[in-house]
Amino acid sequence: MEKKLKITREFIERMPKTDLHVHLDGSMRLETILELAEKQGVTLPDGADTPEKLAKAIHMGEICEDLTDYLKAFDVTLSVMQTEEALYRAAFELAEDNALEGVKYMEVRYSPLLHTEQGLSFPVIVEAVGEGLREAKRRYGIMTGQIICGIRHITPESSLRLAELCVAFKHKGVVGFDLAGAEMNNPAKDHREAFYLVRNNNVNLTIHAGEAYGPESIHQAIHIGGAHRIGHGTRLREDGDLLNYVNDHRIPLEICPTSNVQTRACESFESHPLPFYLSYGLRVSLHTDNRLVTDTTMTDEYMACVEAFDLNIGDLRKLMINGFKSSFMPYRKKRTVTASACAVFDALVAEFEEKQGAVAIRGPRVAQEIAIQKASASPNGAIELEPYSGKSGVTLKDAEYNLAEASNISDDSKKPSKKNEKVST
Ligand SMILES: [Zn+2]
Repeated sequence: MEKKLKITREFIERMPKTDLHVHLDGSMRLETILELAEKQGVTLPDGADTPEKLAKAIHMGEICEDLTDYLKAFDVTLSVMQTEEALYRAAFELAEDNALEGVKYMEVRYSPLLHTEQGLSFPVIVEAVGEGLREAKRRYGIMTGQIICGIRHITPESSLRLAELCVAFKHKGVVGFDLAGAEMNNPAKDHREAFYLVRNNNVNLTIHAGEAYGPESIHQAIHIGGAHRIGHGTRLREDGDLLNYVNDHRIPLEICPTSNVQTRACESFESHPLPFYLSYGLRVSLHTDNRLVTDTTMTDEYMACVEAFDLNIGDLRKLMINGFKSSFMPYRKKRTVTASACAVFDALVAEFEEKQGAVAIRGPRVAQEIAIQKASASPNGAIELEPYSGKSGVTLKDAEYNLAEASNISDDSKKPSKKNEKVST
């Protein structure tokens, strides 16, 4: 019997990844918060003056009472995120941390409303974050987009102001609108005007739902809000009919397993609906939610799922593809980037198979998908369904180069833009 390929942390780190659900104010580095607090004369709670003390003060990675309790940590991070410099740095460092663990595309979300305490205007806030992200692109090649959040427990009028901001910055770094905040007792329908404004201007919309409230909240997000994606959707499994609707319409679910355990949206990691959703065919992908508050990374999330749910290489490939497919990248660019990411993944599998003297269990679904990909490239269009050998003839180096090239395709053209043609790989 052939030896089965072991999915290692190194493999996960090196596979191309996305993070579409990550909050800027929940994902700073501890050291950065300490440095900024000192510089700005901000007093941190419990006299926190070391990374260890600060981690304790914000209950980093600890199980909270509920979502509202979890959100308290953000008061601390936000206390040092009121200047352009801090926002630039938070955005740059978040993108840098992602790039260094193989994330190729990231959509970062935040609410400008929470960064105005010292008088910053909305456009200045969006520009500062954008500048940090652009610097990360220049240095690491990581693709990014901003998502502007309305907040459930703040007024609908403020959501409308943020929706206007979102529309104004469409194609200027902002790729979508979201509704975040305390879900319980704050229904999405109250913010319908904001949703209508963004959709009426052809802006992408995602809404946090089914995390701290039942499937009714997801129903409202989709049917009243018109959401194109759902943040979490943890409790979707409680309503089979809606679950089928979400599946039939390929509405992506942004799954954040560790965060769901921390906020008690899920009793335990093992009881998370992810494996059910994945096997049922829902378009699910993995996300961190808050790298700092949840004490996680994309690699950690994948690893935890591999261990808890015994995911095989086929499952990983599916999750990866879903991440790229669910992104708010323009379709033509997305198509090329996703295909390039698959080529890197397949070449990486081949390298690990050789290194370990083992065979990856891909599952029939992946074998079929790869066969279809090959067939669509062949002149007679014949679909071969025999198992994929893993030897596509493309070297890992070439595949990685092609992915980096694809990252530079401009947002409204299939071809790489001239000025960005030279990229670091
Ligand atoms: Zn979230």
